[in-house]
Formats: sequence, structure tokens, C-alpha cells
Amino acid sequence: YGPDDGVLVLDGLTKRFGGLTAVDDLSFAVEDGEILGFIGPNGAGKSTTFNCVTGTYPPTEGTVWYRGEDVTGEPAHEMVKRGMARTFQSFRPLEDRSIVRNVALALVPDKIASLSGLRGETRRRATEICERVGLGDRLTQLPDELPHAGLLRLELGRALATDPDLLLVDEPFAGLSNQEVAEISDLLESLRDDGITLVVVDHNMRGLLSLIDRAVVIQFGSKIAEGRPEEIKRDPAVQEAYLGG
Ligand code: ADP
Ligand code: MG
Repeated sequence: YGPDDGVLVLDGLTKRFGGLTAVDDLSFAVEDGEILGFIGPNGAGKSTTFNCVTGTYPPTEGTVWYRGEDVTGEPAHEMVKRGMARTFQSFRPLEDRSIVRNVALALVPDKIASLSGLRGETRRRATEICERVGLGDRLTQLPDELPHAGLLRLELGRALATDPDLLLVDEPFAGLSNQEVAEISDLLESLRDDGITLVVVDHNMRGLLSLIDRAVVIQFGSKIAEGRPEEIKRDPAVQEAYLGG
């Protein structure tokens, strides 16, 4: 793989924690404008891959290119500036701040919004983002008043506040009902229609196959399959990973 193979390109990405190789020589490319499924059993290395790509920690080996530039090991705030956003598997909103203010704080990283109240452009933009993710009628509620799917919407809103053109979404469907999976899928699809490229993680393929254009499947930190949803479903290595594991 090379710098121009996609909007985001991983080449030989490896992450070791002491003796454990969590991500093992992983290479794939994300194409501009697609929704890529990033699938693997629990512990396969999906979140660690996100962490290495988004600057949470540096990879042990390998290269990450973003829009043609080598961004390997760049810190998280640099990746955000470049237009890359992510959500976390476990949500961490500020519990004592309202929904709209949680979004505003992601919008204004220097915390102006927390000191001087919400006004003007900051309030307008944060409100708009809350509406975009389906929280327009819950602006002044606190995060703990939201159901699980609402917290996911808030997490997506906080990511959107950084105005990304690539969004990495870690396990959005865990703990959701089928109805909620469908609603969140619609939201993710609408973000793609707005021009945001998406990588969506799941530990199985439930709910994901109708959403994604392509998938990369990993096991033990390595890629075992890549292709269109129909191909992935039938892939012997994928069936083995799920039935055998
Ligand atoms: P997934 O997201 O696919 O479920 P993870 O990337 O979270 O998997 O974890 C992959 C492996 O790396 C697991 O064995 C996990 O225990 C290990 N791991 C993840 N993060 C750390 C860390 N910060 N320190 C040590 N081991 C870790
Ligand atoms: Mg994970």
C-alpha cells in the first residue's frame, strides 16, 4: 500500500503491548466517500487500530497515511485538525453539563463555552449539531437522562463538532435494539451523504451488512478477509473465525 491508495491508508501497522501483539502487520485502505465495516471478534484489535490511527498512542511499526500525508504517530489533536474524528466504545460526556453544552465544548476546545455561557455562534452551531444527531428536543437535559442510544448520538455529535471528513465509529451497535440499530444506521448513512467517509466497527456482522459498502475483517490483529458484504459473508476464513472461535 502507498500514500495515495485511499483517504486513509494503513501499511504494516503493528502494535505490541509487552509480549502481546494486538495489531499484527495490518494493511488496508479506506476509500473516499465509502462506509467501511471494520469487523472482528472481541479482542481482535479493532479499538487498538483506531487508537493507533487517531493518535491515542503511536504504533510500534507501520505507516499511516491520511490524504496522502504520512501522519504516523501524530498526536490526537493534530489528527482532529486534519479532519479525522472518532467515537469511543465507552462514552465519556461531562456528566454535569447539558447535552448542548457537551457538544459546544467539543466545538470550542479552549473551554470558552464553559466559562462564559453559551451564546451566539457557539450556541447556534451546537444546537444545529444536536438536531443533526436527533437530540434537538433534549438540549438542556443532562447526559444521564439519555437512553444508551441517546448517549451514542451525543458521542456522534461531539465528534461532528470537530467538522470531520473522516469519522471512525467504534462499536456503535453494542447494546442497541434492532430498531435502534436501524435508526443509527440511517444517521450514519446520512452523514456519508453529507460527504463524511466512515469506518464503522462491529464485533459481528449483524446490522452492519446493509449499511456498509465494503468490509475489512480481522482476527488476532491480522486481516483475514476484505470485500463486499456478500463476499465477506461467504468467506471461509470469516466463517471459520466466527464458527470456530
Ligand atoms: P477489540 O476492540 O477488537 O475488541 P482491542 O483492540 O481492544 O480489541 O484489544 C486487542 C488486544 O489488545 C486485547 O487482547 C486487549 O486486551 C489488548 N489491549 C488493548 N489495549 C491495551 C493496552 N492499553 N494495554 C495492554 N493491552 C491492551
Ligand atoms: Mg474494541
